[in-house]
Amino acid sequence: MSLLSDKDITYLSGVGPKKAALLKTEIGVTNYEEMLYYFPYRYIDRSKFYKITEIVSSTSYVQVRGRILKITMQGEGRKQRMTAIFSDGESAMELIWFRGIKYLEGKYKEGCEYVVFGKPALFNGHISIVHPEIETINEAKSKLQIGGIQGMYNTTEKMKSGFLTSKALQKIEYEILSSLKDYRIPETLPEHIIKRVGLISLHDALVNIHYPKSFEMLKAAQFRLKLEELFFIQLGIVRTTKIRSKRFKGFLFSQIGHYFNTFYHDHIPFDLTQAQKRVLKEIRADVGSGKQMNRLLQGDVGSGKTLVALMSMLMALDNDFQASMMAPTEILATQHYETISTLLAPLEIGVELLTGSTKKKERERILAALEAGKVQILIGTHALLEDWVQFPRLGMVIIDEQHRFGVAQRAKLWSKSEQPPHVLVMTATPIPRTLAMTLYGDLDVSIIDELPPGRKPIQTIHRYDTKRADLYEFIKSQIALGRQIYIVYPMIQESEKMDYENLDAGYEKLKHVFPESHYSLGIVHGKMKPAEKEAEMQKFVSGATQILVATTVIEVGVNVPNASVMMIESADRFGLSQLHQLRGRVGRGADQSYCILVTQVKLSSESKQRMEVMSRTCDGFEISEVDLKMRGPGDLEGTQQSGVPFNLKIANLVTDGQIVQQARQLAIDILDEDPELLMEKNLLLNLQLNQLAKKKINWGVIS
Ligand code: ADP
Ligand code: MG
Repeated sequence: MSLLSDKDITYLSGVGPKKAALLKTEIGVTNYEEMLYYFPYRYIDRSKFYKITEIVSSTSYVQVRGRILKITMQGEGRKQRMTAIFSDGESAMELIWFRGIKYLEGKYKEGCEYVVFGKPALFNGHISIVHPEIETINEAKSKLQIGGIQGMYNTTEKMKSGFLTSKALQKIEYEILSSLKDYRIPETLPEHIIKRVGLISLHDALVNIHYPKSFEMLKAAQFRLKLEELFFIQLGIVRTTKIRSKRFKGFLFSQIGHYFNTFYHDHIPFDLTQAQKRVLKEIRADVGSGKQMNRLLQGDVGSGKTLVALMSMLMALDNDFQASMMAPTEILATQHYETISTLLAPLEIGVELLTGSTKKKERERILAALEAGKVQILIGTHALLEDWVQFPRLGMVIIDEQHRFGVAQRAKLWSKSEQPPHVLVMTATPIPRTLAMTLYGDLDVSIIDELPPGRKPIQTIHRYDTKRADLYEFIKSQIALGRQIYIVYPMIQESEKMDYENLDAGYEKLKHVFPESHYSLGIVHGKMKPAEKEAEMQKFVSGATQILVATTVIEVGVNVPNASVMMIESADRFGLSQLHQLRGRVGRGADQSYCILVTQVKLSSESKQRMEVMSRTCDGFEISEVDLKMRGPGDLEGTQQSGVPFNLKIANLVTDGQIVQQARQLAIDILDEDPELLMEKNLLLNLQLNQLAKKKINWGVIS
């Protein structure tokens, strides 16, 4: 038998050129191997026959054995439908068809016995199944899956109209598996791994993933395939990390000196939280180890990451190195610059700001001072990545809100000096540890899991837009207390004209509700020039503006402790992480703060769920877990560029966390013993990794 990957699916019995073309365009399947790796997304237990009385509203799929009592035709042409009353002897339900009626007419007979299968709907106590699968008793008995577990395959509309239903795909898998006869699908994992982890063979896994002999075998097959998929990802990541740490030494910061100590003892504005202290110790250990630090700092909005960043940079300065901090937006970079230069003013440290809108002359001055070593800390935006920004002694790089940057951008910082600086990336979008292991597999993770003392939890409420008048009254009462307000409009795509119309209309209306004679309003959005945006933000920061109408440009990092209300219009149009980020703009001072989520009354159940989660918890980790479960990791900001394919075939980075961990440990153990994978027993792994690399899956880019 030739390789499965060499066998064209076109010539498989029951396929042919038309279906083959669909398989190729719709799901990318051209040969036997690819088809075998197209797995069911769920399974149905067809060994169970339901009684109609057992069906409740939460029942997903049912199989019922019974007789058709009566068939009726209604309507004409496109509106035609066929209904059958189906009874299991005790009670009855309806079977309904809207499509393909011509073909069905006369096919089923009143009084005959059938097995029907499908998703029941309950309405007013009546049970019906639309477009059920239906077979005569004899057909059903002759099927090999009768009494078995049946896989369900994803199909597209195009596939369905080309007769490639889930059932048809199941049949194709069956044909491939039968064609193997005595042939055993070659193993892709070495014997020692199979033994150590207790895996079933690849052959048995592929058979049982499509045609499980039992639920135990199905579990064993899923485990084998998931572990293998995740293992090769981890093997690639760990190998790259090892090669890199061998190739690059890290700068050794041998001492904690004048700058750090003076700041810590004399100028720090408040006591560090325990979590901040712990993270600083972890960073200190890294930079004092001689290895290059690559650390991810996760901490919820408002947890005080900036101070940790600042003190890490002081470690570099104490060892005669320069430090740099990059933020994703101009507003944020400017705010960091102001915070940091103010805090460091008594220490007489050279701090500068470089962004895309820094004027040419100013830029030249900064760059010259940088090369002369007079600029010790350079803060900025993407502008820092430009080739003409040259640090003679860059020892520490901080990347804030790292999920906003792509991998390529992070990698670019590496090339800024011969020896790579220590890198601390910070994010307020916490992701579960096991997902971080894959996304940022080569980063060590630190977590700030504690907010500074004295913060009152933000009260979050969901209100329908019919209640807007009351909300405005509430806002007025907050302003009367001297507080400031954010009102945010969705701007999913900065180019969407309709969004701007909404924003403009909203702003005009607000000017009526909050007349200029009594209130000061400002507006910021992405279409404004950076300088204009900056000026508007500044007015809000200084307290001159009471209400800031904005788009998500204010989402990241901005710090105005006096702002106490975040009102979000059309809140259902935002993702959970985004809502959490926006909410993080308030609650930064000692006052009670509020987040008001405004939506229409008509809401999808998913949107309702999102509003509920937001109202229930302020815990960023919990929110991100829910978000990941609802949306899947592929939608996570920044992950598209991460290089991790989220169209994993079987594993799920969110729900298979334990297997991720197991796969990672396995990869570490193997590479500890055999870093180049040259041992006889690991040759198969080397081969597989190369093969995956050929398929353009490059784990090495994750850094
Ligand atoms: P984030 O982690 O979201 O970047 P920031 O660094 O902006 O948070 O900090 C949020 C606010 O908390 C700032 O006003 C900062 O001055 C304050 N802060 C940080 N650390 C502490 C602390 N240990 N005690 C009290 N306030 C703190
Ligand atoms: Mg921040």
